[in-house]
Amino acid sequence: MLTNDQLDKWDRESFFHPSTHLAQHARGESPNRIVTGGSGVYIEDRDGNRLLDGFAGLYCVNVGYGRPEIAEAIAAQAKELAYYHAYVGHGTEASITLAQMVTDRAPAGMSKVYFGLGGSDANETNIKLVWYYNNILGRPEKKKIISRWRGYHGSGLVTGSLTGLELFHKKFDLPLDRILHTTAPVYYRRENLASSEAEFVAECVADLEALIEREGADTIAAFIGEPALGTGGLVPPPAGYWPAIQAVLDKHDILMIADEVVTGFGRLGSMFGSDHYGIRPDFITIAKGLTSAYAPLSGSIVSDRVWKVLEQGTDEFGAIGHGWTYSAHPIGAAAGVANLKLIDSLGLVENAGSVGAYLKQALTDAVGDHPNVGEVRGEGLLCAVEFVADKTDRTYFDPAQKVGGRIVGKLLEEGVIGRAMPQGDILGLAPPLCLTRAEADKIVAATQTALKTVAAEL
Ligand code: PLP
Repeated sequence: MLTNDQLDKWDRESFFHPSTHLAQHARGESPNRIVTGGSGVYIEDRDGNRLLDGFAGLYCVNVGYGRPEIAEAIAAQAKELAYYHAYVGHGTEASITLAQMVTDRAPAGMSKVYFGLGGSDANETNIKLVWYYNNILGRPEKKKIISRWRGYHGSGLVTGSLTGLELFHKKFDLPLDRILHTTAPVYYRRENLASSEAEFVAECVADLEALIEREGADTIAAFIGEPALGTGGLVPPPAGYWPAIQAVLDKHDILMIADEVVTGFGRLGSMFGSDHYGIRPDFITIAKGLTSAYAPLSGSIVSDRVWKVLEQGTDEFGAIGHGWTYSAHPIGAAAGVANLKLIDSLGLVENAGSVGAYLKQALTDAVGDHPNVGEVRGEGLLCAVEFVADKTDRTYFDPAQKVGGRIVGKLLEEGVIGRAMPQGDILGLAPPLCLTRAEADKIVAATQTALKTVAAEL
């Protein structure tokens, strides 16, 4: 086995890490971690640390680490047939079974699933299909996509454009044309403090209507949104938001893409966030929880109404010109089948709902009254604590103080992994869906200690 020193040297010399300060990493100024194993909600590293992973990797290891059922399904598939493509009607028992399992669980009216590899490519697929759909319907001008500020939809060219976070745009020449952004549904950050939740929803709707009016409804093809904002701060929508947005989309014949990369397969305590909030999607993006990240796999679930037009298109123009070599990869599909069976047999969707409610309440009790806690929020096992310099007027800390990052650093010293979210000082928690109440207590105690330590230093 290689020594830690050797791995550290090669890591600094050769590994281009995603979402990392490249210069600091290469110079050895920032820490690295070599992860060696995991079990349940814990991971282990080469330095002998055992850490409670309060973010399930990148909110993806939904069934928890070290599940032999999935490892065995992957091994069996690799031995039997590691790869065959899915072009021109090819499939495997695993990919066909998984397609059926996904559509069985999807909201009403969703009829087919196209498999990709990750959330970004699945959203690229969705946007291509939206454009194809409107071309087939003879509406070549209806192509613009509306996303939300603080939304996250990936980091490709179109998907990085859809993402409404500055870091993903600046110096990359994004967003591309045809991509527009509207108001983030973050009630806590409403401009007018006096607005009720219902008034704030009306403001979001008015902003959307104004954008559609300005651009022309006949140029707008689709709206994309996460049922609950993820990377933009883990924010459940204000009450009534989705039905109100959905009514605007229906009125202007705008397709709805529900990006359920985070919320799909149980995170909110429901199988899909669309059902949870009454969204009626034309496309659903799935990834992460589809295999609990035991193998890369994503999907675009399309509605009956979209599917009919896609069929019409191929009748008129021949086979659809869209496909990846690894679409419906057998190993990913085998992992997906085993994973969805486990989610059912362990009752993880229900557990996410009940332990999630417990975690949010316990966090509220423990830190909700702290003068630097602006809000404790969450739905299911998607939970956040937003820190502020002043509670009454929601004043942000000076970003140079890096309060969110410091709290996450202290949390780690307490043995718990959280994630500092962009857009303020926000502790993000999205643990595996198998979290127990005792493990939730551990997260809460660590948060309390971390907050106390950092607040004393400010
Ligand atoms: N959509 C959402 C809601 C996500 O949270 C993510 C990733 O975090 C993506 C899309 C992109 O997925 P990937 O990183 O697998 O490309």
